[in-house]
Amino acid sequence: MIIAIDGPAASGKGTLARRLAQHYGLPHLDTGLLYRAVAASLIGAGRDLHDVEAATSAARGLGMEEFDEARLRGREMGEAASIVAAMPAVRAALIAAQQRFAQRPQGAVLDGRDIGTVICPEADVKIFVTASAETRAQRRALELAARGEKADYATILADIARRDARDSERADAPLKPAADAVRLDTTAMNIETAFAESLRIVEARRR
Ligand code: C5P
Repeated sequence: MIIAIDGPAASGKGTLARRLAQHYGLPHLDTGLLYRAVAASLIGAGRDLHDVEAATSAARGLGMEEFDEARLRGREMGEAASIVAAMPAVRAALIAAQQRFAQRPQGAVLDGRDIGTVICPEADVKIFVTASAETRAQRRALELAARGEKADYATILADIARRDARDSERADAPLKPAADAVRLDTTAMNIETAFAESLRIVEARRR
């Protein structure tokens, strides 16, 4: 079974994907980490984030198992990732590895922006997770505080709005629900309710 979870930044899709993967005993790939790792590699090499050639070569050289999550999950890396993610050559360089991951014999859970539309259009279940920008900013503020990273709510809300716009307006694989995705608005839900709801969606599709 392939489960595709898409949605905007801090919608809760990563947590839901992880929980679903655990529940069904499936491998999980957080595809945002790939774009974050490409951005981190440019920053580490002192290259401009808009350097398409350097970004494409970083994407081509990316291994799938070697993510320094503590570094990649920082606030600025999300912003940097969305810049390189708008480059068609970078996206093209990362497609095959994501599709290979999805084709594992037992199936997989992948989360990102274009899983249901581009990476796994044949996924058995597609969920598009949303939440209001304000709720997402509150969640991200708590998450960053828990990691000891300072960031105020207004800055995070502005980050989220900018990233939503960049991810939705890019020409290649923009953030949008697949026609056959089930939408899950988690604005008024805690994680347990959202997880129960996502399980219900998966089970309904399996039947
Ligand atoms: O999901 P996460 O916030 O880690 O993603 C970071 C950035 O990577 C997103 O803002 C988006 O620009 C990009 N991304 C993407 N396609 C994916 C996953 C992430 O374009 N499948």
